[in-house]
Amino acid sequence: MSRLQTLREALNHAPDNTALLLLYGHACLDELHLEEAREIFGRILNLEPEHIEAQLCQAKVLLLQGDTSGAAVRVERVLQKDALNTSAHLTLSRIHLTENNRNKALEYYNRALELDASVSDSALEADLGRIPKPPAKDRIISPLDLLDEDTHSDLEQELFEDPFDDTPPYEWRPETFFAPNDSERFRVTFSDVGGMDALKEEIRLKIIYPLQHAELYKAYGRKSGGGILLYGPPGCGKTLILRATAGEVACNYFAIGLHEVFDPYYGSIERNLHQIFETARANAPCVLVFDEIDSLAPDRRHVRDSQMRNVVNQFLSELDGLRSDNQRILVIGATNSPWQLDPALRRPGRFDQAIFVPPPDDDARKQIIHLLGKDKPIAKLDDAALIQATAGFSGADMRWVFDRATELALADALHSGKTVPIHHDLLLKIAQNHSPSTQAWLDGVNQHTPTAHQDALYNEVRKFIQAIPKK
Ligand code: ATP
Repeated sequence: MSRLQTLREALNHAPDNTALLLLYGHACLDELHLEEAREIFGRILNLEPEHIEAQLCQAKVLLLQGDTSGAAVRVERVLQKDALNTSAHLTLSRIHLTENNRNKALEYYNRALELDASVSDSALEADLGRIPKPPAKDRIISPLDLLDEDTHSDLEQELFEDPFDDTPPYEWRPETFFAPNDSERFRVTFSDVGGMDALKEEIRLKIIYPLQHAELYKAYGRKSGGGILLYGPPGCGKTLILRATAGEVACNYFAIGLHEVFDPYYGSIERNLHQIFETARANAPCVLVFDEIDSLAPDRRHVRDSQMRNVVNQFLSELDGLRSDNQRILVIGATNSPWQLDPALRRPGRFDQAIFVPPPDDDARKQIIHLLGKDKPIAKLDDAALIQATAGFSGADMRWVFDRATELALADALHSGKTVPIHHDLLLKIAQNHSPSTQAWLDGVNQHTPTAHQDALYNEVRKFIQAIPKK
C-alpha cells in the first residue's frame, strides 16, 4: 500500500486528527496532488484557524497553483502572529520572485538569513542571482523547489531531468500524441471536414507528399515542414482540421494544449516550449500543432510583462530552429485573433503562410450537411433550402442546428414510444431562427485599423466580406 493510501486509511478512523491530517497534507504536497493537499490543509485550518504550519503549507499549495496573492495573504497572516518565522520569510521571498519582484524577494531572503543563518537555500539564492546559477542542465526553477530538499530530490530527478539538455530520448509527451501506427489517430480524417480543399492540399504538399515521395522531393531540392497559420472566425473548423491532419499524416503528431505550456514559475514556460520543440525534432518527421497560438505569441509591443516577452522570444527562436534543425517539422498554429500576434511570427521560415479559414461556402455547407446528417433518421432532406438558410453559418452553428433538431425529435420519440425522423422542416425552422455566430467576428474586422504587417491578413478577410451577397 502506498504512503498516501496508508495515511488515507488511518484518517478514515481519525478524521479530525490534526497531526495525521498534517502528515497526509505533506504527502499530497510531496506528490503534487495539489487539490487534495489544499483540501487537507483547509480542513486543519477549519479545526485550528491559527495553525502556523498548515497556513504555510497552504501558501505553498496556492503558490504552486499560481495564486501568488492568495499565498502571500496566508504567509503574512503567519508573520503577524510570528514575525520571526524563517520559513514564512523564505516562502514570501519565493512568492515575490514568482511575481518578478526581485528586490522584495531579496529583502525577505536576507531577513530569513539574519534570523537563522542555517536556513540558506541555494536554489533560491541562485534564482535571486546572489550566487551564479549552475548550468541549466542541473538547475531549473521547478515547483519542487518549494518542497524540502530531501523529500523531493528523487521526484525532481524523475520529472525534470535535463530540461535544456538536447540529448534524446525525451520522456515527455503531450496529452495528444500519435505515433504513425496509432489506431486512435484515424478516427478523424479530412473526409470529416467539409470544404477547406485548398488548406487540405497545402497540408498534403508540406508533409504528406514529401513523406510519400521522398526521392522526388529530394531530386527537386524541395524540403518538407515549415509553418502554417490558420486564422478565422470561431467555429469554422480550425481545430477540426488540425485534428483531422493526424488522421491523414503517417508521421508523429503532437497537439499541444496551452495548459501543457503555461506554468506559474519563472522561466518554466520557456523551458516547456524548448522541450516541446526538442521532442518534435527528436521525433521528426512530425506535425506540431498549437491551437490558440495568440496566447503564446502575443504582440510584444503590447505586452508589459517581461516574462511574457521572454516567452515570445523563446517561441520565435524555437521556430527558427537556431539551435537545431527544424526541417521535417510542420508547425501548424490556429487563432481567432491573428491581429494580436507578434509580427515577427510571420517572418520567412516561421509562419510564412497564413490561411484564412472563412465560414463555409455553399459547397462546404452541403458537405457539412451530409456529414452532420449521416447516421441520423432524416426525412425529406432538401439540401438546397438548407444551404440557403445556413448562409454565413459556421460549421459549429450548423452542428448546433442538427443537435437541436435531434433533441426535439428524440423528445417526440420518447413521448410516442416510436422512432420519429428528424424532418427537414424542423431543421429549416431552427436554422431560420438562428443568427450566424461568425457575424460578430466579421464586424470586428471592419472596425479595426490594420497596421502595415497585418494588411495581408485583413485583405483576405475584406475580400471575403465584400464577396458576401447583400440582402
Ligand atoms: P475556435 O476558433 O472557436 O476554436 P474552430 O474554428 O477551431 O473554433 P472547431 O472547434 O473546429 O472550430 O469547430 C467546432 C465544431 O463545428 C466541430 O467540432 C465540427 O463539429 C463543426 N465544424 C466546424 N467546421 C466544420 C467543417 N468544415 N466540417 C465539418 N464540421 C465542422
